[in-house]
Amino acid sequence: MTGYFSSLKLPDATSEFKESRYVIFGAPFDGTSSYRKGSKLAPNAVRVAYDNLESFDPRYSFDFSEAGICDLGDLQEESTVDEMVESVEMVTGIIRKEAKIPIMLGGEHSVTVGAIRNFKDCGMIIIDAHSDFRDSYHGNRLNHACVTRRSLEVLGPDRIVSIGTRSTSMEEYESDEFRKVRFITSDEVREKGIKSIVSEVRRIVGDRIYFSIDMDGIDPAYAPAVGTPEPYGLKDTDVRFLVNEFSRNTFGFDIVEFSPQFDNGNTAMLAAKIIQDFIGSRK
Ligand code: MN
Ligand code: MN
Repeated sequence: MTGYFSSLKLPDATSEFKESRYVIFGAPFDGTSSYRKGSKLAPNAVRVAYDNLESFDPRYSFDFSEAGICDLGDLQEESTVDEMVESVEMVTGIIRKEAKIPIMLGGEHSVTVGAIRNFKDCGMIIIDAHSDFRDSYHGNRLNHACVTRRSLEVLGPDRIVSIGTRSTSMEEYESDEFRKVRFITSDEVREKGIKSIVSEVRRIVGDRIYFSIDMDGIDPAYAPAVGTPEPYGLKDTDVRFLVNEFSRNTFGFDIVEFSPQFDNGNTAMLAAKIIQDFIGSRK
């Protein structure tokens, strides 16, 4: 795969592909983003922020430089979303076939559609402000506003939970398909507490999970630099809790929709830290 990838490496990525447990790669693409583009710059912004984290975290009493992380660098940026999704599908398939855990740095959310095609045996947890449930948007079924709908087509009904929802069009809301995904609003999480949703989520997604974090699911106060910010979101620690709770059942992971040029530095650090929270709680 050499030559296909380029870019910086995550500081704790000390493993070669062959010996690794976790395989990081960037999917730099923001071609369908409707509002604040720039997520194609996110993978390296996360790597640079990560460099300011300690390699050790006492919360997990774990040293990430010993985790077995390989960083392949970034996929080539394709000119169309179809090509980008295909490219993500291919590389994620290779990683999963080798029984390693892919950690994809988007890019806009549409790249997740490529990954999920290799996880038909899994349930799915999505963190997102938006339901992403349009059948097509701006004439494109792979638009980043259609990710949950496309994932439903791959996985089937009652296997996906999307958490942090607070933006849905009436067209999406009134579709029959909408009831086939469990959308848990950020208000519901705030009212009942994050722990209250664990058993329901577990029942729906089962014990094999693909976990996708659209950074806009988190409140803009913690994660301001996203393509489509939406007020009244999840707390950073709510998302950490879910990542910790479900990491051992997670076989594929991504962080998407971070647009670095709108950042005050916090979004990049949070994205970098979430990678540690995922790996640290799996051990
Ligand atoms: Mn999304
Ligand atoms: Mn979103």
